[in-house]
Amino acid sequence: MAKKQTFTDKLSKKKGAGAAHCPVCDDIFHPVRVREFATEGGRRRQTTKMVKLCKCNEKEIYG
Ligand SMILES: [Zn+2]
Repeated sequence: MAKKQTFTDKLSKKKGAGAAHCPVCDDIFHPVRVREFATEGGRRRQTTKMVKLCKCNEKEIYG
């Protein structure tokens, strides 16, 4: 049989097992994809990149 494990157990385990979190605001980093425009050889290209979002930079990212 599967081990009995509550949702809360899973969460706390995950957090303890090294989910990256910000040392400044103590918020767990949320990976978010942000759109970027790059100009390459005179052509505009749209790219996306992954950014670790926490309370420190959410205003910066979401504007
Ligand atoms: Zn932070």
